[in-house]
Amino acid sequence: PSLGLAGLRVLVTGGTTGIGGGITRALAATGARVAAQYHDGAETARALTAETGDAVTTRAADLTAAGQPAAVVAWAVDALGGLDAVVNNAGGMVGRMPFEAIDDTFLDRVFDLNVRQAVKVTQAALPALTDSAHASVLFLGSISARTGGSPGSSMYSACKAFLSTLTRSLARELSPRGIRVNALSPGTVDTAFHQRHSTPQKLESTRASIPLGRLGTPADCAGPALTLLSPTLGGYVTGQVVEVNGGQLMA
Ligand code: NAD
Repeated sequence: PSLGLAGLRVLVTGGTTGIGGGITRALAATGARVAAQYHDGAETARALTAETGDAVTTRAADLTAAGQPAAVVAWAVDALGGLDAVVNNAGGMVGRMPFEAIDDTFLDRVFDLNVRQAVKVTQAALPALTDSAHASVLFLGSISARTGGSPGSSMYSACKAFLSTLTRSLARELSPRGIRVNALSPGTVDTAFHQRHSTPQKLESTRASIPLGRLGTPADCAGPALTLLSPTLGGYVTGQVVEVNGGQLMA
């Protein structure tokens, strides 16, 4: 069947690097048009636009700042002439913190980056998505939502579990408007995320425990993401958290 992605108008948050960058590239290769927000890295963003022949337009924003989720959605709707899908990919651990050391500032930072902005981006996108015939939302969950993550990642892992449940709640609430809602739940993907939060030794012991024998790549995440966004391949899939982890966690 046709992928059904040509001409699809997609906002990808954190869409120029890592997993978001992989999804953006794959979308552009199928003929979709992408508005990719990024936080740091103007040069990387410019290179991505050049590499994809203007299928990707980019904009810098801190989505945890007041008003920015709505501003980024308004920019995407304007740049693309509407919106068919939102990939809520921006997120991160912020830092490893022992549970007893977590204060309000840290709690706010992790929640704002992983939950609040994704809720606000999705809310702001609803009018445009309601006007689309092929609307869907994709959240970036994590294997840590189910395993609890590793020491010091409690707030991040719990925020990802929040997104898993939000996926199911919104799938029910938005189905009458024809909007599908799913989540992609990666295992250990080799991105800047792990350069910040893991040691080479820890990554190697994780790799050795993965049945497929290697860490994931952004491209590994892009295939399942495109399937979930595609109205022809994924048109009957909603409310699902799809695990992409090389067998690291099964069932
Ligand atoms: P990454 O650090 O390359 O990506 C994080 C993205 O979030 C970046 O594009 C960054 O620009 C954006 N971002 C960070 N702070 C922001 C802010 N304040 N406002 C707007 N955007 C901001 O790492 P990644 O591994 O590609 O992570 C992408 C997503 O995948 C995240 O949600 C992460 O939690 C999730 N994830 C990653 C892994 C992994 O193993 N790498 C596993 C499970 C889930």
